[in-house]
Amino acid sequence: MIKPFTLFGFITISLILMLGCSSTGGKYENGGNTAYLDGDGKRRGLFGGRKRNKSEPLQNPNINIRVDPRLARSLTYSRIRTEGPFIAMTFDDGPHPVHTPRLLDILKRRNIKATFFVVGTNARRYPQLIRRMIAEGHEIGNHTVNHKYLSRISVEEARAEVLGCERAIVAACGVKPRILRPPGGHINDRVKVWLKKEFGYSTIMWAVDPEDWKRPGSDVVAHRIISETDPGEIVLAHDIHGPTIAAMPRALDGLLSNGYRFVTVSQLIAIERRSIATLSDFGNNLLSSTVDRKERKNIQ
Ligand SMILES: [Zn+2]
Repeated sequence: MIKPFTLFGFITISLILMLGCSSTGGKYENGGNTAYLDGDGKRRGLFGGRKRNKSEPLQNPNINIRVDPRLARSLTYSRIRTEGPFIAMTFDDGPHPVHTPRLLDILKRRNIKATFFVVGTNARRYPQLIRRMIAEGHEIGNHTVNHKYLSRISVEEARAEVLGCERAIVAACGVKPRILRPPGGHINDRVKVWLKKEFGYSTIMWAVDPEDWKRPGSDVVAHRIISETDPGEIVLAHDIHGPTIAAMPRALDGLLSNGYRFVTVSQLIAIERRSIATLSDFGNNLLSSTVDRKERKNIQ
């Protein structure tokens, strides 16, 4: 929870949103898509967005951050250091013909941009869902063709798995992925270096795992995500399980109301490269209130 941040943060963000709306006439603008976000940051400030209708859920603001994959400093990420309340939701193993469209609707209502690590076989079967993800501002990452554990197969097989998934994504939407999540989390440093050298991929792990694939129930999944997420962290979930999708409205609304703001993984990586002056005012409060949990998690 980010109690000290919540009140002040909301006042700050509300003011910025009001300014943003007044300069754009309240018109909704898509925050851009996965690879290169061309934000109109100067005119609207960091946050833009539309006015909130009372019948709508809380909205994630438009966050316009230019992404440049060449600037990724690390081979691998599960979280970044940031003073801002930014987090990245990630969904693995889809797209699924029923669950993924439901999730996309849930995200769209909240103006949340997420990251999908898709399996190549599913990308081939449902290319229209890949295109919808891109059209709605989400990022797509590589999760191999057949969900193979990269550190347990030969280099030739790994190459075919990575390339095959990349080609399925490019064939569907024309956007080359820049990030990869190793299926099952099975990876080692040698493979990470190889992925960077041969494909230019950063390896994306996670800091928060609600273990939704064990099907603990939607309430448990939502509670774990809300209670375990800290600033700068990457959250793992799967868009192939119905109960996970059912947990999302509560999980996402809970995080939004706690002051968190959603970005794609590549935006999160880009944020690490910046000092965002507009965030520093409330960033300190945010960090001080979460330091205990960070120590518990034994990071940094
Ligand atoms: Zn997976």
